[in-house]
Amino acid sequence: MRELIDKLHREKVLSKAEFVELLKGFNKDDAQYLFSQSRALADELFGKKIYIRGLIEFTNFCKNDCFYCGIRRSNHQAERYRLSKEDILSCCEQGYALGFRTFVLQGGEDPWYTDEKLIDIISSIRRAYPDCAITLSLGEKTYEQYRGYYKAGANRYLLRHETANAEHYAKLHPPAQRAEDRQRCLYHLKEIGYQVGTGFMVGSPGQTTEHLAEDLLFIKKLKPHMIGIGPFIPHKDTAFAKFPAGSLDLTLFLLGLLRLMLPSALIPATTALGTIHPEGRELGILAGANVVMPNLSPVWVRKKYELYDHKICTGEEAAECRHCLQGRLQKIGYELVVSKGDYVER
Ligand code: SAM
Repeated sequence: MRELIDKLHREKVLSKAEFVELLKGFNKDDAQYLFSQSRALADELFGKKIYIRGLIEFTNFCKNDCFYCGIRRSNHQAERYRLSKEDILSCCEQGYALGFRTFVLQGGEDPWYTDEKLIDIISSIRRAYPDCAITLSLGEKTYEQYRGYYKAGANRYLLRHETANAEHYAKLHPPAQRAEDRQRCLYHLKEIGYQVGTGFMVGSPGQTTEHLAEDLLFIKKLKPHMIGIGPFIPHKDTAFAKFPAGSLDLTLFLLGLLRLMLPSALIPATTALGTIHPEGRELGILAGANVVMPNLSPVWVRKKYELYDHKICTGEEAAECRHCLQGRLQKIGYELVVSKGDYVER
């Protein structure tokens, strides 16, 4: 296993068969060996600094029906909400005062927010915070729509490909949602000039090691600026309620591999990782992640944006979340930085 890890470090890619071998066969010592390299590489490129992004979950209405997701259209138990432009701007104001220089607008695919409304929101944030990055995570849109948001001032876009394998994708989504459409969006976003983030869930129902190897190779080919991975976690009101959550060890191992494969990438230690283990986010940093995304949404909506069961940080104010994270990172020798944290090829 160590030869394969060394090879990945050196050549920045492995074949599908090699990734499969590694993912099937690694043990605790191999993982420690990987993390010693992936962490050292992140420290060398970014110092002991971790970027923060302020997440604003502005709507949980969604026209899609992803089988795994707690805010899917057919979950009639979900209590739906939308934030107004004023609510969103006040999240940004609070976030700015707390040292956030990136705002991430994430939501279900909610047609109530027409392009006109979205462009108004984006350009208002842009005017008020010229020194901040605006990241969108709004799902699949047309090239023209993406271009309109970019022109209004958005700089980055997060759209996980979820799984690179089309058959596996079809087991996680209804037929109207197709892997190739989602992947095409990612190429459009890159072409327009966004810094682009993609990623996948680890341990989603039906996922095999071969699928994971395909995910790694898809990411290598796309060369995104950001990569978000986290364990699948079941939600009680979905068809996947009885499936087990993805594994912590496998998620951490994949984070380490991703760092070696795309050294300059911005990789968050996700909330889902913090949900399956009390120190999941710290372990994510120690495996090679370099971003955290605390929540800036108003407390009254937090519990409603429940993608999966037992999601953490749904009760605290933004300031508490930020300080809690700062303390957690300090304990492991890292510090949060006040910075836009743009992608730089290193
Ligand atoms: N609508 C946008 C989109 O489609 O990209 C953004 C919101 S979507 C809810 C954000 C991400 O949540 C998805 O890309 C998915 O990977 C993740 N997610 C949804 N349900 C999940 C679950 N049960 N466990 C872990 N992650 C989940």
